Amino acid sequence: MREFIYEALPGRVVFGLGSLDRLAEEVERLGVAKALVLSTPQQRAQAEDVARRLGDKSAGVYDKAEMHVPIEVAQAAREDAKRLGADACVAVGGGSTIGLGKAIALEFGLPIIAVPTTYAGSEMTPIWGLTEDGIKKTGRNTKVLPTTVVYDPALTATLPVHVAGPSGMNAIAHCVEAMYSETANPIISMMAEEGVRSLARALPLVVRDPDNMAARTDALFGAYLSGASLGAVGMALHHKLCHTLGGSFNLPHADTHTIVIPHATAYNIGAAPDAKARLSRALETDDPAGALYDLAETIGAKLALRDLGMTEADLDRAADIAVENPYYNPRPVTREGIRALLDDAFHGRRPTAA
Ligand code: NAD
Repeated sequence: MREFIYEALPGRVVFGLGSLDRLAEEVERLGVAKALVLSTPQQRAQAEDVARRLGDKSAGVYDKAEMHVPIEVAQAAREDAKRLGADACVAVGGGSTIGLGKAIALEFGLPIIAVPTTYAGSEMTPIWGLTEDGIKKTGRNTKVLPTTVVYDPALTATLPVHVAGPSGMNAIAHCVEAMYSETANPIISMMAEEGVRSLARALPLVVRDPDNMAARTDALFGAYLSGASLGAVGMALHHKLCHTLGGSFNLPHADTHTIVIPHATAYNIGAAPDAKARLSRALETDDPAGALYDLAETIGAKLALRDLGMTEADLDRAADIAVENPYYNPRPVTREGIRALLDDAFHGRRPTAA
């Protein structure tokens, strides 16, 4: 018998090639007087273009967004927003820039208009993160959920393929764990399945032919579905492991997700029949874990944690941290099982489902 709980998150999505042309209209629609445009230093030019498009509705550009939102950066951006009288933020960039917008919204409750340029998915979630003294705190608050998201695949054209591929695998990882989440429901699972299908088809094309805008559009559509999945349901072992590896061993976010997701899938798939059926359909395979490993290989991603600078001596400590606090996972999490998973991921072995 079908039974579920599904809580839809609010939010307006404007999707399509050239939709950046509609940004000013979207800002107007919200009744915003002055929006602070956010970016990383690397994306300053894109942010300035956006500020120009906003005309007198722009409060200026703050271009110091950084990975994992250091508290000092968040404080400086909050002060700028206050000083300039901003009543909204336009975040142009990936998870780091959108994360900075969330830090400002958490303090002042102003709306965020997100213009994503990677596949990380933060724009669709009420999850914020802030890093203080090397420790990243995260939380959920609907105050930080962007009010409007403008997805323009043209903005992803400058995303180098070695960044685009792992970023897309990061999005696939959100979809996989959404399907076997403790709070999984058929609406989100349907979106997550389509997210995997779109991304798995598009990513090899994007990597082979970076100017293929149809493929870039499909990848961004998959990323949207993935972000919506991440925002709506809880995650499990894979996200816990990646959080541990990123936080305690300083490994890069998307590359770590890319390496771990085939192994986390192999660990869990036997205990998650609905996810197995959906992933098998989406990836056109009877071995989803192996297919995810092959996809990572096809897009030229790194396949082994040792290639990210982790050492074999770190594996025991990583396993200890990953089992420290109990959390939901479809298959029970054991120290021995996690240590074996990490060993496979460290050496970059093709996984076999348990
Ligand atoms: P990122 O935002 O750190 O971007 C990586 C680099 O790529 C930056 O230098 C950026 O300027 C550049 N870049 C981005 N788009 C570009 C483009 N189109 N062209 C050229 N350069 C471009 O990377 P990310 O993977 O998007 O985000 C990672 C961060 O987001 C992590 O801190 C992660 O924890 C967080 N995150 C949060 C959520 C959430 O729901 N809160 C979800 C996913 C990720």
